[in-house]
Amino acid sequence: MCSRCQLNPVIFPPNNTKGLCKSCFFKYFERKFNRTISQFKLIEPNEKIGVAISGGKDSLSLLYLLNKLKSKKRFSIEALLIDEGIKGYRDRTIKDAKDFCKELGVKLNIISYKDEIGYPLDNLIKKLKMKPCSICGVFRRHLINKYSRKLNFDKVATGHNLDDEVQTILMNQFRNNPEVSARLGPITGIKDDKKFIRRIKPFYLITEKEVTTYAYLKNFKIKFCECPYNTESYRINVREFINKFEEKYPGTKHSIINSFLEILPILKERYKNYNEINYCKLCKEPSSKEICQACEIKSKIK
Ligand code: SF4
Ligand code: ZN
Repeated sequence: MCSRCQLNPVIFPPNNTKGLCKSCFFKYFERKFNRTISQFKLIEPNEKIGVAISGGKDSLSLLYLLNKLKSKKRFSIEALLIDEGIKGYRDRTIKDAKDFCKELGVKLNIISYKDEIGYPLDNLIKKLKMKPCSICGVFRRHLINKYSRKLNFDKVATGHNLDDEVQTILMNQFRNNPEVSARLGPITGIKDDKKFIRRIKPFYLITEKEVTTYAYLKNFKIKFCECPYNTESYRINVREFINKFEEKYPGTKHSIINSFLEILPILKERYKNYNEINYCKLCKEPSSKEICQACEIKSKIK
């Protein structure tokens, strides 16, 4: 029986062995979402928030909830979708994203690799002979920042959940990248820069399982599909590893996030002056090197 109202439970969130029924789960989920926004001061009144969407369960649940909250908290939203050009996958999720935005009445901006870089990701992989995610991640970050500025977003909200953040923290540990970890957290970045639009993660304390359950129970008309290149990433190995560990030792993911939040201010302070933010000589986007990663990869395209 649901721990709050005696109906049948549909999910057993962490630290709740009795579980929650559908309606109590919605309340629990939305309260956690709203509390994360207030606790970490993710959104200020009158801000214009860009919502980075892919057409998947996380980003569309995020768009739905921000749309629901915007009048109460007095902010506005617009959606931004990066079309990497992944045949059989992104074309399907774009359709879901378009329908969803239309239903909510949210303006959708679509930026494609083909227009911006010259080729879709499917072709870039063949030309560059690099791992898909290494190309994809660099260009996506680059385009999100560039267009967030052009569209006058104060911040960009992403659908990253607790599982995503745990994976990134571990990946940075495994690769000895504390400086990259310093830029993580519910609000990304170390210091303000007029050309760098900060990202916010309202699902920071919500697990992947909770978001999937929310989208499913809300009957959002979306396909629960995964990128075909996902099997080739370092992240997928870390994900499998931590999922197995969580199964054996429940609560591990929350412990990682909680201890990370404790040390994050120290990390941010430590790396505050480590790398001055410069601007890429070619594209003028923020970069720690003379030429940014996106321009460096672009120069290798034959
Ligand atoms: Fe891009 Fe890799 Fe994500 Fe696919 S799994 S969308 S290639 S980053
Ligand atoms: Zn550049």
